[in-house]
Amino acid sequence: MPFDKHGHEIYKEPQWPSEPLFYVSIPSATDNSVAPEGCENIVFLVPVASGLTGDDEQLRENYFQRIIQRMEKVLGEDITAAIVYKKSFSVSDFTKEYNSFRGNAYGLANTLMQTAIFRPSCRSKKVRNLFYTGQLTVPGPGVPPSLISGEVVAGQVIKSIK
Ligand SMILES: Cc1cc2nc3c(=O)[nH]c(=O)nc-3n(C[C@H](O)[C@H](O)[C@H](O)COP(=O)(O)OP(=O)(O)OC[C@H]3O[C@@H](n4cnc5c(N)ncnc54)[C@H](O)[C@@H]3O)c2cc1C
Repeated sequence: MPFDKHGHEIYKEPQWPSEPLFYVSIPSATDNSVAPEGCENIVFLVPVASGLTGDDEQLRENYFQRIIQRMEKVLGEDITAAIVYKKSFSVSDFTKEYNSFRGNAYGLANTLMQTAIFRPSCRSKKVRNLFYTGQLTVPGPGVPPSLISGEVVAGQVIKSIK
């Protein structure tokens, strides 16, 4: 299934995807602490535009059913009958739990004016000796840059107390 249509519904005309593509991750394949013995922990992620509204139970269940049915068709396995627990986390949850802007999961978009030196500074301009680290500051998003951010900020802290 091509990404064009789904991409259009994220970036060009933001709306709930009509034919949702999704990521699948099965962390229990490598970490036996995330599911009871004999069970699997499966995470599905449907990328969507930020700021969408209406992610009620009905909408979530609708997407879930479409995802599961596609997985069952591709794998030839009945997954639905084996589900013992399921949980969803969507746009409104990101807003509620993390106060995240437009309910987004990824933080600042990589636009030119939010890149490199234009990102929020790792040192507070208002509170002396307050430093920030992680994906929202320099150098940027992703696990490796977030780790580098820790190193950068540690250097800044050491410099500030010398
Ligand atoms: C779906 C998805 C897929 C991704 N895939 C990749 C990938 O393949 N490769 C890659 O490199 N990067 C990926 N990223 C990006 C990467 O996960 C992030 O850039 C990185 O985890 C950011 O690290 P961080 O330490 O800045 O923040 P986080 O990992 O978000 O850590 C912040 C922590 O602070 C906690 N917190 C928040 N508010 C409070 C509070 N008020 N009090 C106390 N604690 C609080 C949160 O619970 C969280 O544990 C992905 C991100 C998402 C959402």
